[in-house]
Amino acid sequence: MILDLTLGEIYEYVEKLGLPKFRGKQIFDALMQCKTLEEITNIPQVVKDKIEKDYPKYNILKLLESKDGTKKMALELADKSIVESVLLKYKYGYTVCVSTQVGCRMGCKFCASTIGGLQRNLSAGEILLQILVFNKLLGGGSKDERKVTNVVLMGAGEPLDNYENVISFLRLVSNPDGLNISQRNISLSTCGIVPKIRQLADDGFNVTLTISLHAPNDEIRKTIMPIANAFTIKEILSACDYYFAKTGRRVIFEYSLIDGVNASEENMRELSKILKGKACHVNLIPLNSVKEKNLIGVNRKKAYVLCGLLERLGTSATVRRTMGEDIEGACGQLRNKLGGAR
Ligand code: SAH
Repeated sequence: MILDLTLGEIYEYVEKLGLPKFRGKQIFDALMQCKTLEEITNIPQVVKDKIEKDYPKYNILKLLESKDGTKKMALELADKSIVESVLLKYKYGYTVCVSTQVGCRMGCKFCASTIGGLQRNLSAGEILLQILVFNKLLGGGSKDERKVTNVVLMGAGEPLDNYENVISFLRLVSNPDGLNISQRNISLSTCGIVPKIRQLADDGFNVTLTISLHAPNDEIRKTIMPIANAFTIKEILSACDYYFAKTGRRVIFEYSLIDGVNASEENMRELSKILKGKACHVNLIPLNSVKEKNLIGVNRKKAYVLCGLLERLGTSATVRRTMGEDIEGACGQLRNKLGGAR
């Protein structure tokens, strides 16, 4: 699929097809504006016929809008896989939350994306496509004309379990001739695959790193996140220190509050202790409901109480606004099947 290619690789591709170089730039521009082959006016049909088999193919199966304006889209890819993505509107622009895998093999006990396990990795272009489609729906183009300004890798899948494609995606999405979204405006969320966190810093990336921590100690973490059997919190925090040292970027910790599991005042004290002295921020999120899972979130009032406690203990924290819950578009609610939500 040519959306996986950099501009340089597209030049090689058109050369192999025996086409002049400028066709490469035309194709690249059309891709970045998410044009269908029919919508391209400056390329003759004979050329279109040559590239047709490599041109991105997709179907918008579903587009739901939440009361709060959040949109959730289900895209069907060329092989009939289904990926869900979310569009969030903020004061400063639009953010797209992309999926990085079809399904997920991390097995977190509270997350819908893990139901059915991992089907396959998404390619760099398939991750980019989710943004391009929303950008087009908003009437945006490439470069200065783009409408989407921010990206979060927080949809279905574990980005660091699909490392090579994800870093190719990061390069594509920040291309100045394409969407030109800078790494400062991109957040990558991981359940904590320690060696890949270090590799991301070593490979020169400086996106905002977000860690799905969800527990103040390994015992609790192991009951809800199987990855905790592979890496300890101590190892994760040390990889975060490394990331901060290399990039200067403050790390964000996600903490979903689950009633009776990780949401006591004692849990907050322990959390504050392990994060003491670190340049970080904690996002508290009352767990969103997932019908197949029997875990329950705390109410927002309790979340604010726990947040206040963390702040008094010197840990920077906020309760995250939950968006798109009525369309199952909130954290942990994305899937690879067309669900019941309208
Ligand atoms: N696999 C990556 C990317 C997913 S991001 C990661 O684990 O970080 C999705 C975020 O939503 C993660 O922080 C995840 O732990 C969280 N999450 C999953 N299920 C949730 C639920 N039911 N309610 C609230 N947050 C949830």
